Amino acid sequence: MFTPRPTSTQRSPRPIAQRLCLACLCLTILDARADTPATRPNAQTTATTPPAPEARPAPTPPVAPLYHRPVTSASAAPRAKSYQTPVTSAASPRTAKPTATTSANAARLCPDRPRTPPKGFIDLEALIDGLVLDIRYHRADNFTGAPIAGYGAPKAWLLEAPAQALKRVQDSLRKQGLGLIIYDAYRPRRGTDAMVAWAERTGQTALLDGGYIARRSRHNHGTTVDLGLVDLKSGRALDMGTDFDTLTPQSRTRAAKGKALQNRLLLKAEMEKEGFRAYFREWWHFQFTVPGSRPRDVPYGQCEIDEWAGYQN
Ligand SMILES: [Zn+2]
Repeated sequence: MFTPRPTSTQRSPRPIAQRLCLACLCLTILDARADTPATRPNAQTTATTPPAPEARPAPTPPVAPLYHRPVTSASAAPRAKSYQTPVTSAASPRTAKPTATTSANAARLCPDRPRTPPKGFIDLEALIDGLVLDIRYHRADNFTGAPIAGYGAPKAWLLEAPAQALKRVQDSLRKQGLGLIIYDAYRPRRGTDAMVAWAERTGQTALLDGGYIARRSRHNHGTTVDLGLVDLKSGRALDMGTDFDTLTPQSRTRAAKGKALQNRLLLKAEMEKEGFRAYFREWWHFQFTVPGSRPRDVPYGQCEIDEWAGYQN
């Protein structure tokens, strides 16, 4: 069943921004950080804020201050090879509740391997030649500091229409010696919940209470993608001014200069040409509309259970 979106009284005074924020959790964090300096997570606050009493202890490394990572040309990691990263601390209690097999247990029981995409979903890597994947949520180097539930395998799926559109973008960029690097695409709902749990665990409940962190994301529909540009020869990411998931105003598409601004605008133009909509606060976030799409909870790895009944819509 759907968790209802915040009421009008809970919403941000900026309705357009709020609607957009509800499309992507990371966007909402950005929005809240921009508006409420006291709640901004940084190295100091995340290191000193005790976990909530009810929070599960995190067995993996503590939250890392990854919001301000400098961008280098080496930021594009080579395509991930390991399928054995355990999915642990960021797992939402909701995903573990209905069975004895939690994400962590599943990871211990078997090395995780990619699941076949559900009907209607496309494996982007299989469809698009030369695509580079840098799935941060499969690893610990994301804004939560731990692998995210639902990302047992470093893969990227989208629904058929946005996947084919993305292929056309890659075909166009290839003529310029460029290509796409995917940071996130379809996001299992348990992954969204894990991000919410992270905000609760790190004492940033104001982000939830204020309606800033959405419990639903258009990424859950398989229609939205986070990506950047790479040089096809070297496979390295182009300078975009900030790294992916740098949740500050510097990530606004037009908040860059020189080559970084050119690269952001090139990505925006190529994506919009194929029907994606850019989000002005995050240069990497693009949404595609597929009528009738719905949120799903199919994890990327085989070891986590598929589509928990509690997520029936
Ligand atoms: Zn996004």
